[in-house]
This record gives sequence, structure tokens and C-alpha cells, in this order.
Amino acid sequence: MMSSDADYIRRMSDALRSGAKMLSEICPVCNSPLFEVKGELRCIRCDKPVVRVHEESETLAASTPIILSRLENALSAKIDVMTALLQRSGEPEEIRLLSETLSSLIKLFRESRKLSEELRKS
Ligand SMILES: [Zn+2]
Repeated sequence: MMSSDADYIRRMSDALRSGAKMLSEICPVCNSPLFEVKGELRCIRCDKPVVRVHEESETLAASTPIILSRLENALSAKIDVMTALLQRSGEPEEIRLLSETLSSLIKLFRESRKLSEELRKS
């Protein structure tokens, strides 16, 4: 629920009176200017603290675990499909292709897991 403009202006002047600083950055949710209140970045309109995501690399770091778990889900689904095909296959050439595909899928899966663990540790 969005509070009224009168409320917003009152909260803003209260904040400024208590020493808050208006910043050039804007809130990603409502585009209002952000304030630094007692060392914390806050949006006065949303009345919530805001987490600063500056660099593109930080954005990437923040979304990497999600990307990796999506990749792992996709890979395990493919591994499942390939395994089912392999079970049914009697053709040497097809078996060879399926084995190669499975091998690279498993390798990628392992790399993704390793990367996830490294990210969790850091
Ligand atoms: Zn806001």
C-alpha cells in the first residue's frame, strides 16, 4: 500500500530534520530519491531500507546462485532423458553419442556444483 504524498513529505522533512542526507540515487521500486539515515540507505516513500547494488559484477554475483541452480535443474533433466535413451538403445553408434553427451552434461553439472560451493564459501 502506497502512503499519501502528504505523509511522504512529512516523513521526508522529519528525516531531513533528524540529519538524514538526500542522495542522488533513486529507489529501484518507486524512483524516489534515497536518503542516508544513520548510515543506512532508506527510501522514505517505501519506508524501507534499500540494498545498494552498484556494479554490474555485484548484480551478477547476486544472481549467480539462481542462474547456477537453474542450470543444474536443466542439466539433471537432460541427464535423466539421456539415461532413459541409453537404457533403450542397442545401436553402438547411438550408445557412443549418448555416452559422450552424458559425459559432458555430467562434467558441466559438476563444474556448476563446484562454482556454487565456492560462491557459498566466499
Ligand atoms: Zn521507494
